[in-house]
Amino acid sequence: MKKYMVLLMFAVLSACTQAEPEYRETRYIFGTLVEFIIRGEDEAKAKRAIAAVDRDFQRMHKDWHAWKPGGELVALNKALAHGEGMRVSPFVLPLLKQGKVLEAKSGGLFNPAIGALIGAWGFHSDELPTGALPNFDDVHALAARHPSMADVSISGDMVTSRNSTVQFDFGGFAKGVALDMAVEKLKSLGITHAIVNAGGDLNTLGSAGERLWNVGIRDPRDWGVIASVQLQGGENLYTSGNYERFREADGIRYAHIIDPRTGMPVDHTVSASVIHENGALADAAATALIVAGPKNWVEVAEAMGVQYAMLVDKQGTVYASPEMLARVKFETDKKLTIVQSRPLSDKIIELSHSRQNKMTSMH
Ligand code: ADP
Ligand code: MG
Repeated sequence: MKKYMVLLMFAVLSACTQAEPEYRETRYIFGTLVEFIIRGEDEAKAKRAIAAVDRDFQRMHKDWHAWKPGGELVALNKALAHGEGMRVSPFVLPLLKQGKVLEAKSGGLFNPAIGALIGAWGFHSDELPTGALPNFDDVHALAARHPSMADVSISGDMVTSRNSTVQFDFGGFAKGVALDMAVEKLKSLGITHAIVNAGGDLNTLGSAGERLWNVGIRDPRDWGVIASVQLQGGENLYTSGNYERFREADGIRYAHIIDPRTGMPVDHTVSASVIHENGALADAAATALIVAGPKNWVEVAEAMGVQYAMLVDKQGTVYASPEMLARVKFETDKKLTIVQSRPLSDKIIELSHSRQNKMTSMH
């Protein structure tokens, strides 16, 4: 139910000019509602393109899933746990290859090889986990075996791991990889202006008429929009939330983003938003920045080549790069404390947002 509300709130805030036809369709894919907006094409062509993307998405949902039986990834994880290799389809290969690169870039904070830890916390389920917490010593022991994409060898289509604790879970960036593929598919079918929006995580292509795409950034605290931002075609926005999926025990919340170094859920940061022209990178970076938190996010953003990033910690303090602050318009009436980082690029951009929020400097 929540997911439906989220989509409505994060519908693209404004999209079209009257001159160009605009076709909108919402489909239930990947366990979430995905909104397509296609501009400048006749309806039949737009519909055909969306149907083609939907077919791809249905297959991804099955084969990229870390725990639903019958998919390719589940079979691969089973083989690795037995110390065996497995041949994979061209469908799963890009996840493995990009996962390797992104884990290395993030300094290991984004790590899609920690499926065993995510499973131990009970997040391999559509329902929120209940029952006993895992034994913390077991969790630390598993983290100490350092499952990593660096342990994984890919030779042609053959995948092996030298570490039997490696279990893939691509939940941290599958949406980004999927939306990148969706936009490529739309382009190959002759679409030039579109947005594909999966509950606030979105990829853009082309433009929204004379204007840029105006989209909302999720507010971790109340399911609303904390800010809006205008995107150029080809820019994508991803927000990782550490507030939506969590379990509770003795009044303590254990959320679904895990620090691979300790095996424990992150509790200091509730959301991270990233804009980048590569959706997979933006999605992975948003997850990595949550793990990095207020103390380390700037270094991780730089290492991943991210210029536009914003975090919200559990006190509600906002941390952002000056480049990001120059682009966002805060949409909340709540008083915000904003901590601006050093610039993440050489470009000098003037700050333009107008709220009277308290600004402090971090570096
Ligand atoms: P959201 O679900 O809000 O989009 P993310 O993109 O961060 O958030 O995805 C969270 C999912 O990523 C978790 O449910 C889990 O499957 C996986 N995950 C958790 N911690 C990590 C991590 N440190 N690195 C990579 N993936 C992770
Ligand atoms: Mg992510």
